[in-house]
Amino acid sequence: MLKFVNIDQKNPEKKVAQSRSKNFEEIYLEFAKEKAEEQASRCSQCGIPFCQVHCPLQNNIPDWLKLTAENRLKEAYEISSSTNNMPEICGRICPQDRLCEGNCVIEQSGHGTVTIGSIEKYITDVAWEKGWIKNIDIPKERKSNVGIIGSGPAGLAAAEQLRKKGYGVTIYDRYDRPGGLLIYGIPNFKLEKDIVIRRTERLKNSGVQFQMNCEIGSSLNFDEIKDKHDAILIATGVYKPRKINLNKNNATNIVPALDFLIASNKKGLNDLVENFDNGLLNAKDKNVVVVGGGDTAMDCVRTAVRQGAKSVKCLYRRDQNNMPGSQREVENAIEEGVDFQWLTLPLEYLGENNVEKTKVARMQLGSPDESGRRSAEIIPNSETNLVSDLIIEALGFEPENIPQMFNKKELDVTQWGTLKINYKNMMTSLNGVFAAGDIVRGASLVVWGIKDGRDAAEHIHNFILKNENKISLLETLSDQKLAHV
Ligand SMILES: Cc1cc2nc3c(=O)[nH]c(=O)nc-3n(C[C@H](O)[C@H](O)[C@H](O)COP(=O)(O)OP(=O)(O)OC[C@H]3O[C@@H](n4cnc5c(N)ncnc54)[C@H](O)[C@@H]3O)c2cc1C
Ligand code: SF4
Repeated sequence: MLKFVNIDQKNPEKKVAQSRSKNFEEIYLEFAKEKAEEQASRCSQCGIPFCQVHCPLQNNIPDWLKLTAENRLKEAYEISSSTNNMPEICGRICPQDRLCEGNCVIEQSGHGTVTIGSIEKYITDVAWEKGWIKNIDIPKERKSNVGIIGSGPAGLAAAEQLRKKGYGVTIYDRYDRPGGLLIYGIPNFKLEKDIVIRRTERLKNSGVQFQMNCEIGSSLNFDEIKDKHDAILIATGVYKPRKINLNKNNATNIVPALDFLIASNKKGLNDLVENFDNGLLNAKDKNVVVVGGGDTAMDCVRTAVRQGAKSVKCLYRRDQNNMPGSQREVENAIEEGVDFQWLTLPLEYLGENNVEKTKVARMQLGSPDESGRRSAEIIPNSETNLVSDLIIEALGFEPENIPQMFNKKELDVTQWGTLKINYKNMMTSLNGVFAAGDIVRGASLVVWGIKDGRDAAEHIHNFILKNENKISLLETLSDQKLAHV
């Protein structure tokens, strides 16, 4: 049995790679196996599985932990994949501290959580490695087919579930690669892109059609695709960046977070990215200032560090406890050398043409408002200037105007611009048009996208069955009528 002394828990790959006696893959899997079995055996199999209750997919965690501890991995994989279309992806990028692991009874009793996410990742990585994950087995091809707009986690999960039932499925996406934010939003150091690609390849090999570089609303009309399919699922995510509306709107060194992350991900996929190569979207040797305190901001600061930035500052107007992003991500960023400037508000961008400095003010937290949240107030005379070669604005995302984009005024939206659905069947205000994922919830999580995609597939199936039954009833009635003539 291999023993690793002082393995860096956050980055075992790095330490393991230093050992040259076996090939990396073998050593890593052996180490991961030991770790997974050891962790899984810590599960107390408590009466009420709070971890499961707090997993959006209600994954049967205690059962697959028990099977992992007993080295019955194939069975563990079968249980794990019965509720989740991408367990190895959730295992990598779910904010477990807010979901399953944060509610582990062992964590609550102060002994440190069972590392559920890592075990989930390990089980499915092994399943891929061993060839247990096959193309979808389609019992019987149906005549009906479904069009899905958007190939993010919601669209992909729905596609898989519908294909399993034998529907023809076509996914339309405006990007050149499928995966949505899995491929172009979340950085490679959190979610390796080959992990996403093997999932989308499996769907392709199982008969799901992908029409890439195809924006509904410009490349194709919404009505055109609606006429082609028996039902439509809108899973377009949210992409309009929130702005802080400071001056210097035409400075080329203020960039939206997603432009920065997409460029970095494309570069990692060996694409030619002009604005990366010419330096516009590259943090190398720059003093980088990231504005925002959510998970996207954390991805930007950590990407900038990896690109070789001279310094990386993160500005957030409240304190660390009030940051919306995962605390684990904040801790990782601090460890990597990011300088967090909490209680700091950008006031003005300074410089001749491009921004050279950001004028900021210090904030203090005032008394709580009706919601109980303490308001942030500027401390008078606290202004300072921060050297800023590249400013990345990461203040979150809002929905685009989908009714306008699709030329469908009848498509109802909420006051936030997300699509309104009937929560009983996930149908929008248009008959046969369903919606799922961020475009319904607002910016959310991958695991919720998967949950919505699975639920939407079930509702679409029921809708199509009902329509098919109606048609066959009408056909029977008309046959009977003809027989009487
Ligand atoms: C930088 C960043 C990091 C994140 N990190 C995490 C994380 O670590 N963990 C986590 O759980 N969540 C994370 N999230 C959130 C998560 O990625 C989203 O909640 C999830 O991807 C939403 O899934 P979705 O399928 O609804 O939409 P998306 O993943 O956004 O996919 C929507 C797809 O629709 C396509 N599309 C949009 N409009 C059209 C159109 N008109 N025609 C054709 N195609 C269209 C888009 O090109 C895209 O491919 C992160 C988000 C961001 C921005
Ligand atoms: S899907 Fe996410 S929340 Fe659920 S068990 Fe896996 S890591 Fe935890």
